[in-house]
Amino acid sequence: MSRTVIVGAGAAGLTCAKHLRQLDDARTIIVLDKDPDVPYERPPLSKALSGAGSVSGGRDELVKVGIDVVLGTALRVNTVAQVLNTSRGDIAYDELVLAPGSRPHRPAWVSDEVHALHSLDDSRRLRDAVSAARTAVVIGGGFVGAELAASLVSAGVQTTFVFREDALFRNRLGEAVSDLLTRLHADAGVRLIPGAAVAGVEPGQPARVLLTDGTTLPADLVVAGIGAHPDTEWLSDTSLLANDDTIRTDESLSTPAPDVWAAGDSVSWIGSDGSVMRSAHWTTARSHGRHVAIDLAAATRTPFLEAPYFWSMQHGSLLQGIGHIDPRWAEIDIVAGTGPKPGLLARYFLDGELVGAVAINHPQGFMAARGDVEHRAASTHTR
Ligand SMILES: Cc1cc2nc3c(=O)[nH]c(=O)nc-3n(C[C@H](O)[C@H](O)[C@H](O)COP(=O)(O)OP(=O)(O)OC[C@H]3O[C@@H](n4cnc5c(N)ncnc54)[C@H](O)[C@@H]3O)c2cc1C
Repeated sequence: MSRTVIVGAGAAGLTCAKHLRQLDDARTIIVLDKDPDVPYERPPLSKALSGAGSVSGGRDELVKVGIDVVLGTALRVNTVAQVLNTSRGDIAYDELVLAPGSRPHRPAWVSDEVHALHSLDDSRRLRDAVSAARTAVVIGGGFVGAELAASLVSAGVQTTFVFREDALFRNRLGEAVSDLLTRLHADAGVRLIPGAAVAGVEPGQPARVLLTDGTTLPADLVVAGIGAHPDTEWLSDTSLLANDDTIRTDESLSTPAPDVWAAGDSVSWIGSDGSVMRSAHWTTARSHGRHVAIDLAAATRTPFLEAPYFWSMQHGSLLQGIGHIDPRWAEIDIVAGTGPKPGLLARYFLDGELVGAVAINHPQGFMAARGDVEHRAASTHTR
């Protein structure tokens, strides 16, 4: 009987385990995770900072269907002997799936009083702090930072949102999307400070966020959402990592090591057009997990062709994205929304072909564009 070991009980690892169990009720499936709260979902953590909050739970359900959950840390892997060395002892495997996700950036200026938001435990600490805060500074203009700024104002906290880019998401999503997101934040009462670099955070009540231009921002609460790095340091003595510390796979999410696959945020894989792909989004992580499970159960290696999809909620507005979105090279066509909330559909074209789309409060337009982008992604397989 085959033994499949999965490192990481996040979106990718758990989806893989559950799907594999549905497809094969005989094999042994062991999921290892260092976070004592697993399983839980990360996306709800930044969407609301008051109310009941997310809870962990569901380990019993996994055990019931014959998935062993081991709480411990993977320390090394011997891909020749097929043994995973962990804080709970050695675990031999027939197949290994690496899904360790990422960990938040902690640059030198991030001191203890600066909250991060990556885990359920982070969100518990943040919620306690929010209940006692009147003012907050959110640092970092990515999705987690933007959602945090939105959640904080809706919890009644006066919020200043500082980020390095000249305009919110302009480099990532283009001018029109940036303008609308900026408007949504400003209308809701968030004070935005674009083009800002943080020099340090002085502890105190309030703490003081120091910007490199000399500005000082006092705040009862400081939160940084400044990106994440693949949590793959423990694999650094293997040949599995690319220069950016992602686990590099082929187009089927297989690594060069025998019987080792990878899935989720920590992976870079070869896309349908031969380019190197990365995604740090929940849906893609789950799709990776499902894809690896299907290949494991069928003993096949099929290309992963799904176009990356993501969503975000800010100030009650739904942002959705699909495919290749890069305003540096794409031609962008904008259609205004027609619903009660301000909205738009941005479509990204390369050589006249629709390769990606972003919508804010424009679900119908997005659905149509998504169908076209997905169709193209599935049909442009070059290998
Ligand atoms: C606050 C927040 C909000 C988000 N909101 C959205 C959203 O709205 N939309 C969206 O598309 N995406 C969102 N994301 C991103 C999404 O959650 C991730 O893309 C997804 O969780 C990635 O899944 P994963 O399985 O690759 O990694 P993770 O979910 O991070 O899971 C990896 C697991 O591996 C474990 N692990 C790591 N190293 C080891 C080791 N050495 N030994 C044992 N265990 C280990 C970790 O403890 C972790 O539980 C959000 C992320 C955060 C943090």
